[in-house]
Amino acid sequence: MGPAIRLPPRPRVLLPCLPTPQRGHKVTLFEKSDSLGGHLISGGAHDFKSEVRELNLWYQGELRDWGVDVCMGVEATPELIDGLEPDAVILANGSSPVMPKIPGIDHPKTLGCIDALLHEERVGRRAVVVGGGLVGCEISLDLINKGHEVTIVEALPGILSSGPAVPLPNTMYLRDAFALHKTPILTNTRIAAVEDVGAVVEGPDGRQTLPADTVIIAVGFRPNPSMAPDLRGCGYEVHEIGDERHVGNILTSIWDAYEVAHTL
Ligand SMILES: Cc1cc2nc3c(=O)[nH]c(=O)nc-3n(C[C@H](O)[C@H](O)[C@H](O)COP(=O)(O)OP(=O)(O)OC[C@H]3O[C@@H](n4cnc5c(N)ncnc54)[C@H](O)[C@@H]3O)c2cc1C
Repeated sequence: MGPAIRLPPRPRVLLPCLPTPQRGHKVTLFEKSDSLGGHLISGGAHDFKSEVRELNLWYQGELRDWGVDVCMGVEATPELIDGLEPDAVILANGSSPVMPKIPGIDHPKTLGCIDALLHEERVGRRAVVVGGGLVGCEISLDLINKGHEVTIVEALPGILSSGPAVPLPNTMYLRDAFALHKTPILTNTRIAAVEDVGAVVEGPDGRQTLPADTVIIAVGFRPNPSMAPDLRGCGYEVHEIGDERHVGNILTSIWDAYEVAHTL
């Protein structure tokens, strides 16, 4: 009996990695930064999210065990991919934080949510976290646990009510923690500017300034620009998965990857 899956004659290109090596495909993974994991790195930076860090390490072990060709520090471009003459390309370029166009967005006190997670030393004692979605709330709790004074500013009537659905235990835990720590949460309130004294916000009581050392922006993510339009018509399959296709979470990204991998 012959092999269930024949090795394709040309390499398959993958961004990032899927279960395909287990099915006999030759996989090449390109990562433009010097670390594997994408948002799993900042998403697992909190003291209470060791499982996310462990998941990232587990994937890296799988890549090693399955002999995936990992090209670190290499930004995939349409030209690079085309030169490999792959049978299929899977694009998983991820997403980037949205930074609102407000006065003071470049102020030294303003910090993006990824920077706040990866460089806690840059967060001052008094922090205003703009955005009460899952990312903003988890940053807030991590900072509170580390001794910072945090105020959460949320444009909607309630926190944890935007973005992909958050499991109930997570939302209950966060709400209870904020109640326990008496964390100020300003709802129906928007950031208007960042100034020397802190965050200028507008809410039901009008405009006010929240004194702060750091104003952390966590108002959501948008998909990174896709290479797909440049690759279509090149003679190989092109798939988009994960946050590049639709900003979601670990589950939706893995599910995307699983579905594509099983059709190759
Ligand atoms: C702070 C934070 C906390 C989160 N917490 C959770 C959580 O608790 N639970 C949960 O389910 N989800 C969480 N998420 C969401 C989850 O991390 C993402 O949905 C998931 O990581 C998306 O995976 P991805 O592979 O599509 O993109 P990413 O993780 O963004 O990875 C994309 C990768 O592609 C690389 N790249 C981009 N362009 C190129 C190119 N041209 N060439 C080579 N490499 C390139 C990037 O450097 C990056 O490493 C969190 C996200 C953030 C930001």
